Amino acid sequence: MNYTSTRNHSVKVSAAHAIATGISPDGGLYVPETIPAFTYEELLAAAKADYRERAVSVLGKYLTDFTADELRECVDGAYTGKFGGEEVAPVVDIAENRFVLELWHGPTCAFKDMALQLLPHLLTRSVKKTCDGKEIVILVATSGDTGKAALEGFRDVPGTRIIVFYPVEGVSAIQKKQMVTQEGENVGVCAIRGNFDDAQTGVKRIFTDREIAAVLEKHNMAFSSANSINWGRLAPQIVYYISAYADLMNRGVIKNKGDKINVVVPTGNFGNILAAYYAKKMGLPIGRLICASNANNVLTDFIRTGVYDRNRQFYTTLSPSMDILISSNLERLIYDLSGCDSERVKGWMDSLSATGRYEVDDDVKEKISALFWAGCCDDEATQRTISEIFEERHYLADTHTAVALNVYEQYVKEFGSDVPAVIASTASPYKFAPAVLGAIARDRVSDDEFEMLDGLHAVSGVETPDPLAGLKGKAVRFDRVCDGSGMRETVLDMLGITE
Ligand SMILES: *Cc1c(COP(=O)(O)O)cnc(C)c1O
Repeated sequence: MNYTSTRNHSVKVSAAHAIATGISPDGGLYVPETIPAFTYEELLAAAKADYRERAVSVLGKYLTDFTADELRECVDGAYTGKFGGEEVAPVVDIAENRFVLELWHGPTCAFKDMALQLLPHLLTRSVKKTCDGKEIVILVATSGDTGKAALEGFRDVPGTRIIVFYPVEGVSAIQKKQMVTQEGENVGVCAIRGNFDDAQTGVKRIFTDREIAAVLEKHNMAFSSANSINWGRLAPQIVYYISAYADLMNRGVIKNKGDKINVVVPTGNFGNILAAYYAKKMGLPIGRLICASNANNVLTDFIRTGVYDRNRQFYTTLSPSMDILISSNLERLIYDLSGCDSERVKGWMDSLSATGRYEVDDDVKEKISALFWAGCCDDEATQRTISEIFEERHYLADTHTAVALNVYEQYVKEFGSDVPAVIASTASPYKFAPAVLGAIARDRVSDDEFEMLDGLHAVSGVETPDPLAGLKGKAVRFDRVCDGSGMRETVLDMLGITE
C-alpha cells in the first residue's frame, strides 16, 4: 500500500517513509491511497483474539512494508506489560446501551499512550528501512499530555533520543512532576520561560535550522517528530474501535452480522475520531460518529454548517487537551470526502492559513451530515455530568470523557438510543483531579494536587493509578530552565555535542 499527500495527489511513498518523515514536503498529511476492508470473517477472528493480535491484523493492512513478525515485535513491545489491568483497552458497561471505552490504562494515564507506546517501535523500524541507521532525535513541545506520553514511549528505545520542552508556568503540578521525574537513559526535559507557543516556535525553529541539522549529521543523528499528524500515531488508534466492537460481540451485545454501534469521541485535533471514521470505512458497522467539543466548539459549527472558522475567542477550559482551534487531522477527512481531490483540499487549507476560514462544497457537506453528528458543552455542564454519572452510575469520568457523555445525552434526546454507543474515555479521572473533585466533593479541593489525589480516592473508592500514586516520592531528574533563545544550546548540550 502506498501513501499520498492530501495536498498533492502525485506523491507516492511507502508507509515507512510516511512514518519516518511525518509530514509531506508540500505541507499536506500522508494518507493511504485506499482504505482496506476488514471483513466479517476477520471480525469473528478478532473476537477470539487478544488486543495485540487484533492490532497486528489491523495494522498489517496499512503497513504493508512491515512483515507480520516485525509488526508482532512492535505490538508486543508497545502493549505487553505496559498497560495496567487485564485488558489494554477495556469496555465498561455504564448504563443501558452505553459503553465506555477506557483508553487510559497506559503508563501516563491518557489515551495518547495507545499510539505513543507503539510509535517508537514503528518509527525506529521505519528509519532503518528508509534511512541509514542514524540515531533519531525526537523533539517535542508540549502543553502537558503529549510530552509525558512521548517520553515514556521513547524511553530507552535503542537508536533514539528524546528531548521535551514544556512552558514553565503552563502545566499542572502533576504533569510537571510526571515529566521532571522521567526515567530512562535517552531522555531530556527542559522548562521554557514562556508559554506553549514559545516552546512550539522554538522547536519549529530548530527543525528548520540547517546549521544544527548539519551538526547532527556529523554525529550520525537526525531530528524527527512525534506529533499527532504522523500516520504512525493514527493507525494504532483504528485498532481499538475494532477491538471494542469485538468485545461487544463476545458479550452478546452485538448479536447479528452488521449490527451497528454509535461512536462518541471527545475531540481536539480530530485524530481519535478520524480513526473511528477509518474503522467505519473499513467495514466496521458504525452508525453515527458523534463529535464532542468543549467551549472551543469550532468543530461543532463545522460539522453542522460546513464552515470552518477559527476566528473566534479561545477559551481555557477544564478539558485542556481539547482547547484547540485548528484541528489538523480534519484535513484527512475532507480529503477523503472530497473524493481525494487534493486540489480542492489545498485551496481550503490555503484559505485557512490566509483568513482562518474555509467552507467546503455541498457534496462534502452532505457526506459530513450523513456520517457525523456534533455537539458541545461548557465547563459547568461538564462538571454537572461528572457529578450525575458518579451519583447515578457510580462511574468516575474525567473532564474530557464527561464532555463526550454530555454530548451523547444531547444526541439521545434528538435521536434515541436504540443502538449501543461506544464512548471514548481519553484520560484517567486522576489526571484531572482538581476539576473532578470540584464536581463531586467541592470541600476537598485544595492547593496541593497530591493531596487531591488522596481526596479523590477517599471520596470515590476508585484506585489511584500506580504511575500517578508513585510520583510523590520520585526524585526530580531535570530542573533545567532556559529561554526560548537558549533551546538550541540546550539540545546540543543534552545530546553531548560540543561544536
Ligand atoms: C489529546 C486528547 C484529546 C483529543 O484527541 P484528538 O485526537 O486530538 O481529537 C482528548 N482528550 C484527552 C485527554 C487528550 O489527551
